[in-house]
Amino acid sequence: MSTDQVAGTRTEELLALAERYAAHNYHPLPVVIASGEGAWVTDVEGRRYLDMLAAYSALNFGHRHPRLVGAARRQLEQLTLTSRAFHNDTFPVFCRDLARLAGKDMVLTMNTGAEAVETAIKTARRWGYDVKGVAPDRAKIVVADGNFHGRTVTIVGFSDDPSARGGFGPFTPGFESVPYGDVGALRDAIDDDTVAFLVEPIQGEAGVIVPPEGYLRAARELCTERGALLMADEIQSGLGRTGTTFACEHEGVVPDVYILGKALGGGIMPLSAAVADRDVLGVFRPGEHGSTFGGNPLACAIGIEVIDLLREGTYQRRSAELGSWLIEGLRDAALPTVAEVRGRGLWIGIDLVPSAGSARAACERLMGRGILAKDTHQQTVRLAPPLVVERSDLEWALEQVVDVLSTPAG
Ligand SMILES: *Cc1c(COP(=O)(O)O)cnc(C)c1O
Repeated sequence: MSTDQVAGTRTEELLALAERYAAHNYHPLPVVIASGEGAWVTDVEGRRYLDMLAAYSALNFGHRHPRLVGAARRQLEQLTLTSRAFHNDTFPVFCRDLARLAGKDMVLTMNTGAEAVETAIKTARRWGYDVKGVAPDRAKIVVADGNFHGRTVTIVGFSDDPSARGGFGPFTPGFESVPYGDVGALRDAIDDDTVAFLVEPIQGEAGVIVPPEGYLRAARELCTERGALLMADEIQSGLGRTGTTFACEHEGVVPDVYILGKALGGGIMPLSAAVADRDVLGVFRPGEHGSTFGGNPLACAIGIEVIDLLREGTYQRRSAELGSWLIEGLRDAALPTVAEVRGRGLWIGIDLVPSAGSARAACERLMGRGILAKDTHQQTVRLAPPLVVERSDLEWALEQVVDVLSTPAG
């Protein structure tokens, strides 16, 4: 019997198809989602789950937010793609709105987060040669240990995660990694050829790692002093996730380049951007960078609505209030299986003690309770529900999490 004809439930059938026909570059939980609304999803068997991952923050506004779906529907009836060979009537408006939200002059749109990071890297190098006056091919970009900036060959080349980089070399030169949160190491790494420090204000994939207070401010000062660009990868931390529009705001820091993605497309379209002032992003001339789909009318129409939602500040406030409440609740539970609870806003990492079993096993048990969460790095369970989540949903979720983590995996 071929894999296509496996008998049994719809779930088993679809898991078998994925196993047989999809490359095994992910290890998903064995749930097959068929629909979603707000913070909740329903699987093909009709079981409901609270989405506590929110597609790594791409779903900050939940599944199918009515205003975002409305904007997408209207745009679908008008125009979906022009390429950048011509102007369209949503792209300039989106660029203006995003520039204003970020308090910057200009926007360069791409699609995925990795492309926006690549854009920032190219920006920094070109700025380094044209403006700072670095000698040809000498530009250096400093990054932080534990970083996650995407999956291109250049980006995984400066990752220290063996599973991200192993077997994919040779890599792009010109990067130096320093310990995250270590100001002294950063100071030592920045030299005359350094064009940028690329950093996540809070490291997401590393396990929601919040740097020591003052780190981003010190990085800002060092970059200003030494004439290097501070480039904040806010792809996961930005757009409301941590209780502010940008996570850099927690330290009152304004980077030279914001790198955005994920929630920017409202969980509907991939939409990413590098946002900076004219003296930085102005280095590009026609033909030097781009993307066929970057800045397409459909994505931009949704992006305009996303920015509108953020302007009101309600999602940021929800994230701050509900997040503090949830972090406190998890800490107060004082679970013996939990080594540490940390986070900011509705973005929480729970480190399990080694004897508690793997974070993956905990996530599988949570799934059995109707909660979808994702492990990262063996011992960390990450909680990041859509910011539209109801307080009562979180109260229920807290009970489930405490219950599941009260007993070590059997
Ligand atoms: C997800 C993520 C990326 C990569 O975004 P993709 O859209 O998956 O390419 C880059 N940086 C950070 C901090 C991320 O969380």
